[in-house]
Amino acid sequence: MKCDKCNATIEQGEERQHNGQNLCEDCYIDALSPLKACDPWAVHSAKSLEKLTGSPSTLTPLQSEILKDLERNGPIEPPLLLQKLGAKVTMPQLEREFATLRHMERVRGEKRDGKVYWRLW
Ligand SMILES: [Zn+2]
Repeated sequence: MKCDKCNATIEQGEERQHNGQNLCEDCYIDALSPLKACDPWAVHSAKSLEKLTGSPSTLTPLQSEILKDLERNGPIEPPLLLQKLGAKVTMPQLEREFATLRHMERVRGEKRDGKVYWRLW
């Protein structure tokens, strides 16, 4: 199967559904990005974040926690990170925060042995 957006080959069972499209992990994360959502506040804050790249004070508490965990423990599978963060966050929320961090080039996804890991940029 091919990604509807970037045309990359997607392994069986790895495709992600979004708005009726079959997307690869990267395009799916991009599609979840608040920058593309109809959310003026998110776009505004992401733009301010770009200006202040590197300053930890511009991160949400959840984003700081994601970065802290990746710094301390290295790459991790998203469901395991979700478990670590406990009941206060859902997978869609976590993926949204990850997408924001990805746009700031603080983190990225990586595939190893057919599994997706999140890691520092
Ligand atoms: Zn793609």
